[in-house]
Amino acid sequence: MINICDCGFENLTPFEQGWIVGLLEGEGTFILRVKPGVNKPWLNALIEVVNTEPNGEITKRLQSLLGGKIYRAYRKNECKWTLNTKKEILCLLEHIKPFMSKLRQTKINEILTGASP
Ligand SMILES: [Zn+2]
Repeated sequence: MINICDCGFENLTPFEQGWIVGLLEGEGTFILRVKPGVNKPWLNALIEVVNTEPNGEITKRLQSLLGGKIYRAYRKNECKWTLNTKKEILCLLEHIKPFMSKLRQTKINEILTGASP
C-alpha cells in the first residue's frame, strides 16, 4: 500500500504514466544489489534506462516527469537514467508493477522484498 507518493508518479496524467510504463517495460533494467555488511546486508535498488540517442531526448523526458539523474557516456553515445533514492525507486516500482509483464513483475517483487528494511 502506498500512502504518500515519493516519486511523483501520482501527479502525472494517465497518458504520461502509460508512457513511463511502456518505456520501462521495454527499456528498463531493474537491479537489486546486495552487499554483505557488518551487521546487515546493504541493499540498493536501481532502475536504469539506457538509450543510444545522440541528444538523449528519451531520458530527458523521463527526468522532466519524475526527476532523477541522467548519466551520459558520450563515447558510447549512451544515456542512463536513475532515480535518486531507494524510497523513490520502490515507490515507482509499486505504481508500475500491475501493468508490467509477468517476468518484470517477478523481478520487481524480488526487489521490493529484498530492499524492504
Ligand atoms: Zn510514487
